[in-house]
Amino acid sequence: MEIKFINLASEILSQYKQRAKTLFDFRAKIELQIDLKGHRLIGQCQKLAPKDYKIRLHHELIERYGEVYLHDVIPHELAHAVVMEQYPYRVLPHGKEYKATLVALEGKIIAPKNRPKYTLLPHKRRMQRFKYICRCPNRLHLLTAIRHNRIKRGTHLYTCKHCKGLLHESI
Ligand SMILES: [Zn+2]
Ligand SMILES: [Zn+2]
Repeated sequence: MEIKFINLASEILSQYKQRAKTLFDFRAKIELQIDLKGHRLIGQCQKLAPKDYKIRLHHELIERYGEVYLHDVIPHELAHAVVMEQYPYRVLPHGKEYKATLVALEGKIIAPKNRPKYTLLPHKRRMQRFKYICRCPNRLHLLTAIRHNRIKRGTHLYTCKHCKGLLHESI
């Protein structure tokens, strides 16, 4: 995870926490963890103890959607924490108390259909390798998308450790 995303996530969280404090006198502690993977959850809010919560964010979705994801999912999860503090008795997770809290936190009404739709890259695409050749006869180098993109941008060159020749994309 790039450090800029970690900083951005905690910055955005503290902005919304400030609003929650002003609007709902919300003073609980929130720990941020960027550890969700896979298709099951795009974000999660867990109550660890009274006035102590953990918001979990999705690693790949942050990398793919950046600020759009953070401004969508952080207030969504924080609103769950606010509702759990405000209504100690059971209320529906996305019921009317929750909706009112989220609208207040975001300061505007965002229709569910206008929320971003997130997709994850299928596993095999993420593992895609690009074919490169050097001067060695019959040697093929499989480069990751990261290395391939660096070559395409012209910021890096890679050489073969056997023939010392530059790697060229094999077409
Ligand atoms: Zn939710
Ligand atoms: Zn070579």
